[in-house]
Amino acid sequence: MNERPETNPLPNFETGDRTCSLLSVVIPCFNEEEVLLKTHRRLIDILEAALDHAFELIYVDDGSLDTTLDILREIQGADARVRIVVLSRNFGQQIALTAGLHNAAGEAAVVIDADIQNPPEVIREMLSRWQRNADVVYGTRTQRDSETTFKYIMARIFYRIFNCLADIDIPLDTSEFRLMDRAVVDAVLALPERDRFTRGIVVWTGFRQEPVFFDRIPRAAGETKWPLRDLLSLAVDSFLSFSLTPLRLAMWLGLFSTGLALSGALYAVGLRLLTNVWISGWALLFIVVLFLGGVQLVLLGVLGDYTGRIYREAKLRPLYFVRERLGFPSISR
Ligand code: UDP
Ligand code: MG
Repeated sequence: MNERPETNPLPNFETGDRTCSLLSVVIPCFNEEEVLLKTHRRLIDILEAALDHAFELIYVDDGSLDTTLDILREIQGADARVRIVVLSRNFGQQIALTAGLHNAAGEAAVVIDADIQNPPEVIREMLSRWQRNADVVYGTRTQRDSETTFKYIMARIFYRIFNCLADIDIPLDTSEFRLMDRAVVDAVLALPERDRFTRGIVVWTGFRQEPVFFDRIPRAAGETKWPLRDLLSLAVDSFLSFSLTPLRLAMWLGLFSTGLALSGALYAVGLRLLTNVWISGWALLFIVVLFLGGVQLVLLGVLGDYTGRIYREAKLRPLYFVRERLGFPSISR
């Protein structure tokens, strides 16, 4: 991974090989009434100052229960560069951002959270790296003061274990904040899987990927929409969709416990043949039975989870339904 640059250099539009006529910015929103206006103003200010070409803001309303959609309508009414995709219910951040990407028309697309915890100023540098031929520029956090220590430690442990077990290596401390070239967006959208762990999917597609560093700041307002339970479930999702290691664990554990049982048996028989000692008692038996029972149940669970995933994928359900699309040019997709 690259060293953190001392300063984020301003983009030099002359040196870039690529030119952009339209940049799409995708913002998934779920109950974000408290921050939305602030976010929008900041995004517009930054994009207008940084870009010398057009951009579109694609807000995805992920089944919000508050006034998020009303605010979005207001914003859209006042600015033709704003587009809204309203999902039929809450599908989760991963699906919401996928819906946004489906509707993005730009040569490059940026995904950013509605709470601007990831500073939109960084988009400038992302774009300049893209122009200098990076296909994916992903934001990397350098500090997490805003997070609880517990969440921070959990995240570190997660990345480490993930990179040990999974078939791909995802860079440490990244989020969904990234810029993708059109080719990458198309590649990501071509993957039909329902359990979407976009960070992993993007790495899996390959292409030239570069980090850009920034400090993560506290949420501007509102609460995180990712309670611990959902975070854990995303962690499990990401493991099981990018790794077969848990399945192989069954074989290794099975071999290990069979080996242990065999050596125990050999030891007991040897002791009986060579000496007069006979190992007796139920305690050992009890432990062995419990241990094996436990291992089998855990691994049945693992098998069950993979089977459930196959079932979910096999139904071939659409990823989401759109209730309404606003602000898109009429000839659009
Ligand atoms: N989000 C969403 N659907 C959900 C949960 C979250 O679209 O079901 C959006 C949310 O509005 C925000 C982004 O995903 O723009 C990240 O969510 P949040 O800030 O709550 O997560 P955290 O930054 O705490 O990981
Ligand atoms: Mg956030």
